[in-house]
Amino acid sequence: MTTREKLNALADNLWWSWNPHARELFRRLNPDVFVSSNNTPHAALAAADEDVLDDAGYQEEVDAVYDRFQAYMQQDPFFDDAPSTAYFCMEYGLHESMPLYSGGLGVLAGDHSKAASDLGLPFTAVGFFLREGYFQQSFDVEGWQQAQYPVLDPNQHPVQLATDDDGDLVRVHVPLGTESVAVRAWEVALGQTTLYLLDTDFEANSDAHRRLTRRLYGGDNHQRLQQEIVLGIGGLRMLREQGVDPDVYHANEGHCAFLMFELMREQMAAGAVQPDAEAWVREHCVFTTHTPVPAGHDRFGPDLFRDQMQGFAEESSVDADDLLPYGRVHPDDPSEPFCMTVLGLKLSRAANGVSELNGHVARQQWQDLHPDRPLDDVPIGAITNGVHMPTWTAQPAKDFIKTHLGDNWLDQRQDADFWDALAEVSDEDLWFLRSSLRRRLLRFVNEHVQTQSLPQHPNLDPEALTIGFARRFATYKRAPLIFSDLERARALFADDERPLQLLYAGKAHPADDAGKRYIQRIYEISQQDGFNGRVVFLENYNMEIGRMLVSGCDVWLNNPRRPLEASGTSGQKITPHGGLNLSVLDGWWPEGYNGDNGWAIGKTPTGDYGTEDPEVQDRDDARSLYHQLEDEVIPAFYDRDDNGLPTRWIARMREAMTTLLGPFTAKRMVIDYVNKMYRVPVKE
Ligand SMILES: *Cc1c(COP(=O)(O)O)cnc(C)c1O
Repeated sequence: MTTREKLNALADNLWWSWNPHARELFRRLNPDVFVSSNNTPHAALAAADEDVLDDAGYQEEVDAVYDRFQAYMQQDPFFDDAPSTAYFCMEYGLHESMPLYSGGLGVLAGDHSKAASDLGLPFTAVGFFLREGYFQQSFDVEGWQQAQYPVLDPNQHPVQLATDDDGDLVRVHVPLGTESVAVRAWEVALGQTTLYLLDTDFEANSDAHRRLTRRLYGGDNHQRLQQEIVLGIGGLRMLREQGVDPDVYHANEGHCAFLMFELMREQMAAGAVQPDAEAWVREHCVFTTHTPVPAGHDRFGPDLFRDQMQGFAEESSVDADDLLPYGRVHPDDPSEPFCMTVLGLKLSRAANGVSELNGHVARQQWQDLHPDRPLDDVPIGAITNGVHMPTWTAQPAKDFIKTHLGDNWLDQRQDADFWDALAEVSDEDLWFLRSSLRRRLLRFVNEHVQTQSLPQHPNLDPEALTIGFARRFATYKRAPLIFSDLERARALFADDERPLQLLYAGKAHPADDAGKRYIQRIYEISQQDGFNGRVVFLENYNMEIGRMLVSGCDVWLNNPRRPLEASGTSGQKITPHGGLNLSVLDGWWPEGYNGDNGWAIGKTPTGDYGTEDPEVQDRDDARSLYHQLEDEVIPAFYDRDDNGLPTRWIARMREAMTTLLGPFTAKRMVIDYVNKMYRVPVKE
């Protein structure tokens, strides 16, 4: 194979998205095009510098990376008896060049699929080809967020229209009300697994139907219902056209739960009566819920549901009124809307939340579905989220781990004990890692702000305590909490002996004015004396900015209103880089925090939804945050020994790296899904 052929083969599989060496090869082909295309390999390849391609040293590197890719594709599976699985999710966070996600749910689905590939699972994923997926963020002169929707061009990306055995394009049809929509799919090679991205945006469809797969979470309830019909019913029909007939179906969040209705229809078309079809579906489906906010679950009024499901009801010979009870807590209440989460819970054999605390909240939330059971017996378990280490670990940290734990560290990364060996690493080595990653981040920040519409003038000290806060600007995440007492905060930032610097990034949902006001407030504060140059807002949060921030920040700040953070995963990404969490005990953190491997803000959660007064919680948590910063975090960072090392800080880094790395990997998470959810439980 020629060098160009090898690069083409590499570009066609998203394996490169978690292999920095592969990404670096593409960057070198044409750095300007690579960067301006959001790091798109095919774009750089199309504009490749021939001198680079002809360079013998470069060719050798391509050979080496290509060989590693081949070895990855041929490695033995982790399990020899794993059930085959189809995984459905509305969004996927794979790489910044393909913005098919809006936040944590999508990033989790991307990480889950990548870890499934690493494990060699028989696994197929289904989502949407969101041509205008994650909006691009910019600002007007008042610091008010603006949204642009650049259109994703399939020709630039490793996607191909799905075809049948004869090479003909596959289309399936899905009933929407009395109409029908045509659905095609783009196939994505994700390591050893395949992802099908459904697409209605082509000439066969009306304008209204073409819009359905373009954007996430826009539009009204009518459009949302139509999207979810396309995802669940269209997704399963597409899998069937591709000959996919898995042992188990995993519905990740309620958006895709109509797949269960389509499975039921298939069973009835094959001759089963409804109760048997229903039992079959329940035996073959598992469901994950992520939403602690009661209003966050998709609900559709009975009239809208009947109207939009009438075509499907006819196809399945079940009256729409007989489908409604599957989405109701009280099946006989004719006014109760149809809830997708209820459908997912009723037609699955197992369900879970995404952290222990979130599982508890979910049991509480859905106890009414099981009025005869005590709270702890409500059948919703928990599998705590983890992150895909190869995606989120910066190359210098990968090199560091390899030096200390050996070349095969990725094979054992899910074992908690494996990381114990890091306890032997010297203070000097740990501090060198931390300081070099911080400097690398600050160089990135200084460059990034020059491309922004929001004027920011960082004056960042490469040796100063650097805190990161990056996530969606949903108001429950309370981004400006640290500024609740502005003068107390100013004293911390303006301290020239022991300065704080804080890097923000995040997008507010385009319809969320309160979230936009939070960004505007932070922008205003970043202009004020004392904060100026040390509080910096990075525009257009995406997976690249995420990778940089989680690798470089010393402290990752997370202060949601309990218990609204289902899991949160960004804080898990900082650990391989020696970063420390300063977080409210919500989501995954009550399981991770042991007193010595980071810091907690506020009280231990009770997990009881809605029992705490939000204003009291805001005030108490802000006080706790100041106390932790003033009395713990800042002194631990700035108190130095005779060699200039912050020994108490480094002890915490070591404790975090030995205790948090194994349990919070996506590999551990997916192994748990296989063992606890995908395998059919042995009957006693
Ligand atoms: C990790 C990640 C998330 C999810 O993390 P949270 O802690 O839930 O915010 C969201 N967006 C991006 C870009 C990420 O990298």
